[in-house]
Amino acid sequence: MRALCWEGVNDLRVQTVPDPEIVNPHDVILKITMSTTCGSDLHFIDGYIPSMRPGDVIGHEFMGIVEEVGPEVKKVKKGDRVVVPSFVSCGNCWYCQQDLYSLCDNTNPNAELQAPLLGGYPTGAVYGYTHAFGGYAGSHAGYMRVPHADVGCFHVPDGLRDEQALFLSDAAPTGYMAADFCNIQPGDIVAVWGCGGVGLMAQQSAFLMGAERVIGIDRFPERLRMAREHVGSETINYAEHSDVLAVLHEMTGGRGPDACIDAVGMEAHGFGPGYLYDRAKQTLRLATDRGQALRQAIMACRKGGILSIVGVYGVMDKFPLGVVMNKGLTVRTAQQHGQAYLPRLLDHAVRGELDPSYLMTHRFSLEDSPRAYQMFKHKEDGMVRAVFTP
Ligand SMILES: [Zn+2]
Ligand SMILES: [Zn+2]
Repeated sequence: MRALCWEGVNDLRVQTVPDPEIVNPHDVILKITMSTTCGSDLHFIDGYIPSMRPGDVIGHEFMGIVEEVGPEVKKVKKGDRVVVPSFVSCGNCWYCQQDLYSLCDNTNPNAELQAPLLGGYPTGAVYGYTHAFGGYAGSHAGYMRVPHADVGCFHVPDGLRDEQALFLSDAAPTGYMAADFCNIQPGDIVAVWGCGGVGLMAQQSAFLMGAERVIGIDRFPERLRMAREHVGSETINYAEHSDVLAVLHEMTGGRGPDACIDAVGMEAHGFGPGYLYDRAKQTLRLATDRGQALRQAIMACRKGGILSIVGVYGVMDKFPLGVVMNKGLTVRTAQQHGQAYLPRLLDHAVRGELDPSYLMTHRFSLEDSPRAYQMFKHKEDGMVRAVFTP
C-alpha cells in the first residue's frame, strides 16, 4: 500500500510499504477513507520531538471502513464505517476503567522512553506519533491496524457524512474535554487561546455546555472569522492588541473570564532522555515564544476560576505557580480521553448541534500529502486542516 512516511527532519515522502496484518485477536484492519493533518505533527516533522525513525507512517486523526476482523473482536464487523480516537487504549486497565483512556497502562510497549520524564508513569500509545508514544503505524495510508478494536472503533451513524465524523477522532474530543474540565455554569464566560481545530471545537463545546459568552484568541484573521461565523464566539486578534489582558478585562466588566482554555501548547520537547540535551536550545527558544498563551491564560482568569490546558506541553519553565495559587485557580489538563466522549459527541453530531466539517478547508490525494503538510505548516491559503483521501 501507499503511505506517508517520515524519512527525516522536514522530509516526508509517500512510499510503498507492506500492508498491515492482524497481529492480535482483538485487532481490525481499517481501510482509511479520510485522514487529517494535526498541528501536533509539525513538531516531530520539524525535529523537536525525537524517537521518530525513517519509514514511520504518520497520521493520528482518521476514519475508515473495517476491512478485516480479528477472531476476538465482538462489536465490529467487516464493512462497518467507524471513527477511532487517536489514543490506543485497552479498555481493561485501571485507568481505562476510570475513563482516563489516554493514560492506559497496557498499550505503550516503549514505556521506558517516556517513564523517566513522567515520574515513572508512561502515557498510553498514539497512532503514528513517535516510538516514545508506542511506535504504532499511522493513518496517512491505504490501510491501518487498529488494536483493541472493540474499545477504539465507534460506529458512524448513516446520517453523518465522512467529513462530519472525521474530526471526532481527535480535534472534537480534545476540545470537548477541555470545555468539560471547565465545569461551565449558566452565565459563564469562557476564553479560549487558539482557533485551530481543537480551539474551535473547545469554543463550540463551551456553548453546548451552557456558556453564555465565548471569546476566541488567535492571530490569523481567517481562523478568527471561523470562530465568529461557525461558533458564535467573540474574538481578539492578539496581533492587533498589545495588551490582551486589558481587552479581556474590559470585555468581562473587570472580572475576567470564569474559565480559560489553552488550546495552543508548546511541544518543544520530546521523551527520549538521550535527546534532552540536544534539544535544550530549541526547547528554550520555544518556551519563550509559545509558553506565552498559557501564562496569559493564567493572568487573565478570574479569581477562583478554572484553567483548562489541552495544548500539548513537554517541559515548561517559568510556570507562574504563585499566580495560580494566590488567585485560587483550579488547573485541569490531559491528553484526550476520546473513548469517554465519543458517544456524547456522536449524539451531538446526529442532532445537528456539532458539525466540525468546516475544519476541512483543503482536500488532497494521499500522493499529494507532502505538499499539503508544507502548506499546513505555513498556514497557506487559510488552511485549517488538510484532509487526505487515499
Ligand atoms: Zn491531533
Ligand atoms: Zn487501558
